[in-house]
Amino acid sequence: MNTAESLRALLGPRYIDERDRLQRYEIPERGEPGHTSCALLPASEAELQQVLRLCNELKQKLVISAGRTGLVESQRPEGEAVLSLERLNRPLRFELADGRVFEFAPEASPEQGADALAAWWRDLGQPALTDARIEVQAGMAVDAVNEMLRPLSLMWPMEMGSTSAATVGACVANASAGANAVCYGTAAHLCETAWGYWGDGSAAGPCTATVWEAPKPSRLAVDSANVQPAWGLIGSQGLFGVVSRVRLRTCPLPAQREAVLLPVQDMPEAMRLLEFARDSFPGDVEEFEFMGRPAIELVREHQGAAFRWPFESQQIDAPFYLLLQVKSQDAEEDLAGELYDFLAGILEWPAERIGYAPLPVLKKLRHSITESSNARMRALGGGRLSFDTATPVAGFGEYLSDLERTLKAAHPQVQFVAFGHAGVGGAHLHLLGTREHPVAAHAAELVRLVFDVTQRHHGTFSAEHGVGPKWAGEFRRRAPERLRQALVDEKRRRDPNGILSPRSFGLLAPC
Ligand SMILES: Cc1cc2nc3c(=O)[nH]c(=O)nc-3n(C[C@H](O)[C@H](O)[C@H](O)COP(=O)(O)OP(=O)(O)OC[C@H]3O[C@@H](n4cnc5c(N)ncnc54)[C@H](O)[C@@H]3O)c2cc1C
Repeated sequence: MNTAESLRALLGPRYIDERDRLQRYEIPERGEPGHTSCALLPASEAELQQVLRLCNELKQKLVISAGRTGLVESQRPEGEAVLSLERLNRPLRFELADGRVFEFAPEASPEQGADALAAWWRDLGQPALTDARIEVQAGMAVDAVNEMLRPLSLMWPMEMGSTSAATVGACVANASAGANAVCYGTAAHLCETAWGYWGDGSAAGPCTATVWEAPKPSRLAVDSANVQPAWGLIGSQGLFGVVSRVRLRTCPLPAQREAVLLPVQDMPEAMRLLEFARDSFPGDVEEFEFMGRPAIELVREHQGAAFRWPFESQQIDAPFYLLLQVKSQDAEEDLAGELYDFLAGILEWPAERIGYAPLPVLKKLRHSITESSNARMRALGGGRLSFDTATPVAGFGEYLSDLERTLKAAHPQVQFVAFGHAGVGGAHLHLLGTREHPVAAHAAELVRLVFDVTQRHHGTFSAEHGVGPKWAGEFRRRAPERLRQALVDEKRRRDPNGILSPRSFGLLAPC
């Protein structure tokens, strides 16, 4: 039997090689389409293990695909087969801290599962949910997990624009962060245990990471280039193995949330504000996002009449805007009043410079930046370079100022859009070109400039989106040799035939 016949014999209808059905596995979230001759859809963890074993025998290389929202091209095949985890999408069990367990029925729909879990908890007399865990298959979407947890007023707090499709297994594998990592840490920290298979098909796990502790402001809080081999499958981005199942820490849904938009003159001022906010709301600063003026202007232009400005005056203008969100577990507390007292009293913030709007309106502003940037990119016709960097929070403000200055001096025609997770020192950067000055003409130079400035400020070229093939060259260029060698060693140990994610991180290419 040839490779195709062997894989088809194992998977039957879950071996896909029809052109029209393969197309969706070739198109990544961003970047050019790839190409493959087959997609493999194991329907159980045991079958996933069989697929991996067989692919080792056949020396069949694989890229891993789940919700397909990844931004570093890891899921894009360049001739490899696509190993899709979309069928591994079931909730398994829910466990209380005292050991009592609810098992989800295998054939139940998501709604039935959520109802049955809530009924089980009510029948037990609604015991305390502190430190409760939910165990699910890796291919379940983040939103689907949260649908299960909502009736219990619990959540798995990943706040990303992609959660309707992004899977929990991928988030754990990628140590994905998001807007509220400032409060809860990354998906790696929010995963109590992960299991799966190493690249050679042997069983992996239990894998554990550490619990989140807010790092000192002088340390990098998020750095997805710094894979920890000791965490096993967690955070290793499909380099060593495949996560098939995860046990997730749950958090209580806040009883209340309040947020405001605040204009600031510079990012160092913003970071001082964060310090004060943390002192006044210890453990309850749930989000601290920033948007540069050009990012807000993109949204204003894109949304036109639908744009909602949360200030009374249209004249409020500043180089940066902050979205500060605080939470409380006490439904009776006057959280809005406390937030106002903090701003007007402690910070003496002028009332007209506090942007009030319902939380969804403020979130929409933040989450509309990427689509607005897409629209501007199409209109300008000069392409875009996107980056996901981070520096230690203590130097984040200086970093952004330095970067903007350096870019303006070297490439005044490039439009610079910055926004992101200021609370963990994370910046999403868009560099937009025009028809006359397309960014592609200077891509290598622009990438080097951005990453050189980032490195000067002790930052990382990959904060939370991962390295993948997209930044493999940068990893080889910039990662400390000790780390690179540790990953090469682990890759050889766990995936000796090099079948998994073979282009990611550039580990298999000769130095
Ligand atoms: C609009 C938008 C907003 C986003 N916002 C954020 C954000 O705020 N923060 C953030 O961190 N990311 C963000 N992302 C990126 C993305 O959602 C995350 O990287 C997420 O982890 C990808 O999940 P997925 O299921 O779509 O994985 P896929 O795209 O299907 O897979 C990507 C790669 O992840 C690895 N992988 C996936 N599943 C597994 C597994 N079970 N075992 C081992 N490896 C695996 C593989 O290398 C795979 O190729 C955003 C993406 C979009 C489109």
